[in-house]
Amino acid sequence: MTKQILLVEDNSSNRELFVEIIRLNKKYEVHVADSGLKALEMLETFHPDLILMDIHMPEMDGLAVTRTIKSTPELSSIPVVALSALAMKSDIESAIEAGCSGYITKPVRIKSFMDELEMYTK
Ligand SMILES: [Mg+2]
Repeated sequence: MTKQILLVEDNSSNRELFVEIIRLNKKYEVHVADSGLKALEMLETFHPDLILMDIHMPEMDGLAVTRTIKSTPELSSIPVVALSALAMKSDIESAIEAGCSGYITKPVRIKSFMDELEMYTK
């Protein structure tokens, strides 16, 4: 069964790279948003199986977008996994506090990233 993934990432080269990696597994269909606001707009009519959320974005950062998703009843059950280069314990804690189910650090290793996608879309 196809799993829908929404990738929210403001950096275009990261976006392209993630899209390419995610597409290595044919069961994933990846949709992209280049900002938090764009993601929230898409989520009004689209409910993916998983959201991959960049933390550092201008205007609305990934934590704020995640808080909004988690406080919206129709969206709150969708797992949100944070993507960030920062991986201090406190960064991971703030992501979890905002409602993220997990934290993936960039740059990713393809094998473990694919394992994580598998785990979060079960
Ligand atoms: Mg960013």
